Amino acid sequence: MTKTAIVTGGSRGIGRATAIELSKMGMNVAVIYHGNQDKANETVDACKENGVEAIAIQCDVKDNTAVSVAIENVQETFGSIDVLVNNAGVTKDGLLLRMSEEDFDTVIDTNLKGCFFFSKACAAVMMKQRSGKIINIASVVGISGNAGQANYAASKAGIIGFTKSLAKELGSRGICVNAVAPGFVETDMTEVLSDKVKEALMNNIPLKRTAKPEDIANAIGFLASEKADYITGQVLTVDGGMCM
Ligand code: NAP
Repeated sequence: MTKTAIVTGGSRGIGRATAIELSKMGMNVAVIYHGNQDKANETVDACKENGVEAIAIQCDVKDNTAVSVAIENVQETFGSIDVLVNNAGVTKDGLLLRMSEEDFDTVIDTNLKGCFFFSKACAAVMMKQRSGKIINIASVVGISGNAGQANYAASKAGIIGFTKSLAKELGSRGICVNAVAPGFVETDMTEVLSDKVKEALMNNIPLKRTAKPEDIANAIGFLASEKADYITGQVLTVDGGMCM
C-alpha cells in the first residue's frame, strides 16, 4: 500500500526538498504550510511529478485545533499516516537582554510546541497501525548553543530531549523517532545572515561548503525508509562536520 507522509513547513527550504524526496520514494505527501500558499502548491506540483498524490494544507503548527483538523484531513484523503517530519521552524534572534518575551514564546511555540501537537496527533494514528516514523528537525545549535539564539537553541535542544523520550515511549508500538540536526543550509532562513557571519560559519565546516536543502532531505529520506527500521532515539547531524 502507498505510504503517506506529512511534512510541516513543506512550502520552502528543507521541508520542500524533503516532501519531494519522500515523493520520489513513492509516498503520498501532505504539505503543511503557514502563509505561503503559492510556494506550498509548487511543492505539491513537484511531488505529483513523481507519480504520487500530494495536497497542501494551511495550518499554524502553534494552533492545536488547527493541527487536529489538518490530521483529520490527511486521514480522510490518504487513509494512513506513516511518516511525520516535524520541520516547520522560525528564528527570532537577539541577545538575551534584548530578547522580548514574545520572541521567546514565538520560537518555542512554533519549533517545539508545534512538534508536540503534530507528534501527539500522529502518534495516536501510528500506534493503532503499530508502525510509523517520526523525524524531528533539530539543529546543531541545539547541541552546541549559539550566542544570540537562546530561544532557538532552547527549542532545538528541547526537540532532542522530546525525540529521545518519544523513542522510548513509542518503540514497543513499532514507531521509530529520530532527529536530524542540520548545520548551515542555504534557505530563506539563512539568507538574512551577513556575509561576515556566513564566512565565519564556512571557516568551521571541514567539507568547505554549505548544505543544500537536498543534503538534509537525503538523510531524512533514509530515516523515513525501511533501511532505518532499527534506528530510533538518534540525532543524526548533517553539517559537513561543523559540529564534532
Ligand atoms: P525556511 O526556508 O525559513 O522555511 C520555513 C518553513 O516553516 C516554511 O515552510 C514555513 O511556512 C514553515 N512555517 C513557519 N512557521 C510556521 C507555522 N507557525 N506553522 C506552519 N508552518 C510554519 O526554513 P528552513 O531553513 O528550510 O528550515 C526548516 C527547518 O530546519 C527549521 O525547523 C529550521 O529550524 C531547521 N534548520 C535550518 C537550518 C538552516 O541552516 N536553514 C539549520 C538547522 C536547522 P510558510 O512558507 O507558509 O511561511
